[in-house]
Amino acid sequence: MMAQFNWMGEFQDPEKEITFREDQWPRVKHKMQFVYVTTAVVYLLAGFADFLELGPGPKFNLLLACRALAAMAGLTSFYQLYLNKKDVLRHTATVCVYMSAVMGTEIIELILKAPITGTMTISATSFVVLICYLFFPPRLMAPLIGGLGGSVLYIGSMIFLTPLPFTSMSTTILSFGLANCCGIYFFIHMEKTKRREFSALAELRSLVEIDELTQVYSRRKVLEMGHFFFKSARRFHTPGSVLMLDIDHFKRFNDTFGHHTGDQILAGVATRCKHALREVDSFGRLGGEEFIVFLPQCTLPQALIAAERIRTTVCNTPFHTDNGEVLVTISIGAAELQPDHADLSCLIRDADMQLYRAKAKGRNRIYHAAA
Ligand code: GH3
Ligand code: MG
Ligand code: MG
Repeated sequence: MMAQFNWMGEFQDPEKEITFREDQWPRVKHKMQFVYVTTAVVYLLAGFADFLELGPGPKFNLLLACRALAAMAGLTSFYQLYLNKKDVLRHTATVCVYMSAVMGTEIIELILKAPITGTMTISATSFVVLICYLFFPPRLMAPLIGGLGGSVLYIGSMIFLTPLPFTSMSTTILSFGLANCCGIYFFIHMEKTKRREFSALAELRSLVEIDELTQVYSRRKVLEMGHFFFKSARRFHTPGSVLMLDIDHFKRFNDTFGHHTGDQILAGVATRCKHALREVDSFGRLGGEEFIVFLPQCTLPQALIAAERIRTTVCNTPFHTDNGEVLVTISIGAAELQPDHADLSCLIRDADMQLYRAKAKGRNRIYHAAA
């Protein structure tokens, strides 16, 4: 499905937008930290150019003080990010404060230097505007306030507070207009591109991790979770159990009612099993009509309670299908993690053996290693 964006290039779905920002945060943070430090240092160093143009005196001192304040705002913002407080509102506010400090200094520089130099070197300030758009996402508001708001104030100050002739002003206004237009366009374009990439990756991940038919974890994902379950149980010396589930005589449903009804039963069984389990349990489809559950912190007796709950939720109520109500049973093999299990596959093999026994003994039952 194509992602929908608002005019700022953000997802229209607020939940998706928040997930995206959470995901992007580490990268955004590093980018902002880099820009804070480099711009603050360069901004301070530009005081040397002020000295050459203004010479020593109160004007130079005032400008230097403003530069120092702006640089301090930048370095404080850097430090806030360094503390790693993930507060987007606060960081947006700091970006605004920093940009206001920089643009304010630019305006003071303009007022002080315009009568001396006659024309203004506007390139540096319009470059600052561009930086606002290119480096201070994640949201358009901060660059808009800094870039567009700053530009309006800058041009206003130029018109009302300096003796500059209109000829030099018109070029300035044009270059600021260009910097803002390109900045906004580039910002929205970039944000949309990043979000499209994010959506595509999420879709790809879900294709790999979620089984399309049953909407439970795929074989790949559930086994990956199983490896984590195994390592964690070994590391912390905690118990853990595994259940192997297989629908009884599933081939018959396919043969009697057709594959479509078979699919409906499969999806229904998966949903019921998932709901019968805890959130910390990992449940997935191994393939065909076989499922697996990893139960962390569960001893065998506890796992058997869960297994019985699964079995009864599946077999006690018929499934609604296009071919009417269908009663389904499942067989379950259970095994608890033992010290001699060298790896996950040993544990799974044990549970699989028990499942085989449950089938051999008549199905619709649970077998476990100690039986
Ligand atoms: P048992 O009680 O011994 O487990 O018998 P069974 O018929 O369930 O087992 P068997 O392994 O003989 O058959 C499994 C069947 O599951 C065969 C296969 O066609 C069917 N199957 C596998 N995947 C799907 C699927 O995605 N959809 C449908 N409808 N059927 C599937
Ligand atoms: Mg079966
Ligand atoms: Mg099978």
